[in-house]
Amino acid sequence: MIKIDIHAHVTNRPVEGITYKDATIKTLEQEMIKHHVEKTVLLATYFPHKGTGISNFRMLDWIKNYNLETPFHEFLLFGSLDFEKYFYQGYNELEELAERNELSGIKIYTSYQHIDLHGENFKQVLKLTEKYNLPLMFHMGYTHGRKDNRFIAGEVKPSELEFIAQNGQKMILCHLARPFTEELIEVVKRNKTIYADSSALLKSHVDLTKEFLNECGPEKLLFGTDFPVETYEDSIFVIENAMKDFSEKDKKQVYYKNAKKLILSNERKRISPLYSYYDDCGCSSWYEAYDSYEDFCS
Ligand SMILES: [Zn+2]
Repeated sequence: MIKIDIHAHVTNRPVEGITYKDATIKTLEQEMIKHHVEKTVLLATYFPHKGTGISNFRMLDWIKNYNLETPFHEFLLFGSLDFEKYFYQGYNELEELAERNELSGIKIYTSYQHIDLHGENFKQVLKLTEKYNLPLMFHMGYTHGRKDNRFIAGEVKPSELEFIAQNGQKMILCHLARPFTEELIEVVKRNKTIYADSSALLKSHVDLTKEFLNECGPEKLLFGTDFPVETYEDSIFVIENAMKDFSEKDKKQVYYKNAKKLILSNERKRISPLYSYYDDCGCSSWYEAYDSYEDFCS
């Protein structure tokens, strides 16, 4: 069944602790072909606690320089920014990218960054998403990388974000907000424009996914992997098993239609046409030398 992956990361640097040989855009595309993934959203990353990340224009550069063997696969960009130290720099980039029609959405790293959700800076971002009709994606639940601290920049619960959807802002809350899935379910049920994604779920999360689907309906879940943290095999396993009692039409809703409606409803310029393949140049990247599996999720 054709799919859109709403949540993936790439880097050119070798990364330990993942099942793939590397986390490059090329490896990702091979997986996409294997698993009938038509489009993948790549997320810019900003981790001020580590001083690392993949910036907006860097990600755009990788996407643009990648030679897609087939015109049927496409990468889309969700930009992001650092609210803690470089807000205006990040905001200006997002504004420029939105003006150029290069953005499909904006990812907010709640619980990785200290963000005043009622402050002026966040309001400014909301105005931008409103102006360009962009969905907002939020990291939800446990953060990764520090075993002694499950929430690097503090807990943010689904109900604390609910006010953002008041005026019809489209929102995607990631990872079923574990361990706040019960609260997430209530919030999604109450708000027409709040969705969840299935990224970074393990095989053991089948029942949780099923519960979400039974309560909120298949029109509220988006398929995501969190590549390279989670494999396509496991991500698909979760959906297939959670949706055993659902129709093929419902599955298509989760794998494809919800994301298509959310991110492709606007006429957008194709940002990854037939460019030449981006050659690995050993550039420094996303994570520092101590990368591990735990460092990856966002
Ligand atoms: Zn992620």
